Amino acid sequence: MAYEVDYMPVGEGEKSGDAIVLRFGNLTGPREQQTVIVIDGGYQESGELLVNHINEHYGTNEVNYVILTHPDIDHASGLCVVLEKMKVGALIMHKPWEHAEDIKSLFQNGKITASGLQDKIEKSLQHASDLESMAQKKGIPIYEPFEGTYLDNVFHVLGPSKDYYQSLLPHFKDMPAPKISLGAFAPIFRKAEEVANWIQDHIGIDLLDDDNDTTSASNNTSAIIVFVIDGHKLLFTGDAGKTALLNAIAYADSKGFSLTDLNFLDVPHHGSKRNLSSKILKKIKATTAFISAPTDSPKHPAKRVTNALRKHGHSVYVTRGKSILHHNQGNARGWGDIESEPFHDRFEE
Ligand SMILES: [Zn+2]
Repeated sequence: MAYEVDYMPVGEGEKSGDAIVLRFGNLTGPREQQTVIVIDGGYQESGELLVNHINEHYGTNEVNYVILTHPDIDHASGLCVVLEKMKVGALIMHKPWEHAEDIKSLFQNGKITASGLQDKIEKSLQHASDLESMAQKKGIPIYEPFEGTYLDNVFHVLGPSKDYYQSLLPHFKDMPAPKISLGAFAPIFRKAEEVANWIQDHIGIDLLDDDNDTTSASNNTSAIIVFVIDGHKLLFTGDAGKTALLNAIAYADSKGFSLTDLNFLDVPHHGSKRNLSSKILKKIKATTAFISAPTDSPKHPAKRVTNALRKHGHSVYVTRGKSILHHNQGNARGWGDIESEPFHDRFEE
């Protein structure tokens, strides 16, 4: 079965984001023999790009599934445009505000009510909440992607589990003080003055620190989804951090599902150095890895990440203001080849 994975360009400078379209099936046949999926929508302008791209290259205004991996603005806002302008079969997203009753006991203040908490979460995650309202207005069903969800015989959600998800919610921004501190997944405290270090990298040394998970709680709630298309495996990770990825690996292991023979890896969190470790790269291996990163960001992707991916056998490609495409028997659209990311011997980070 043929498939195409398109990454739209998102952001400049420090503005990262994801806007991805996936199409599989009989790509030269009629629309009903194809499935079209949008994974995250970047910012408003990326939403417009997505709509135009699907209209022009896929010849349709219909999307089977729209997936929001997690509610951050650089993933959510463009999807509102997609929902508004296109015919959408289903929306896959978490609805954090609907977990208020389950998590209200996790805060220091014992008087917090579920409805108060629900309001607070909805206000703080306005873009995701707008997306839910748009889906409701248009009668689009919404499903929450938790570990074990299996859709259309093709995509399998490897994480987060509902328990892990709910344990992260009290640590979202704007939440009241939680009872338990973040522990293993505490957000990093930036040094007042960041000292640039010249780092010498070598093929034999892995510079990815293994232990600390310093990505945000919201990033760690990212849906981690594997698509299996005619035996080809494609893994999408949103902005998932190390804890979330290790949980997903453990779940896949428990199902006897290997992640070391992937055809495609969506590198988490725009190639940030906080989201991968050597431990993870022993368990997740792909021939091709894509990174959605802005045109000139010093941290996305981190050179130590692209180096580590290369060491572990991935060919790495980065969007940097361009649309890029990975396909199997798909339509190359006359686009030229892009250079894979080189190995960086010396870099400043
Ligand atoms: Zn992001």
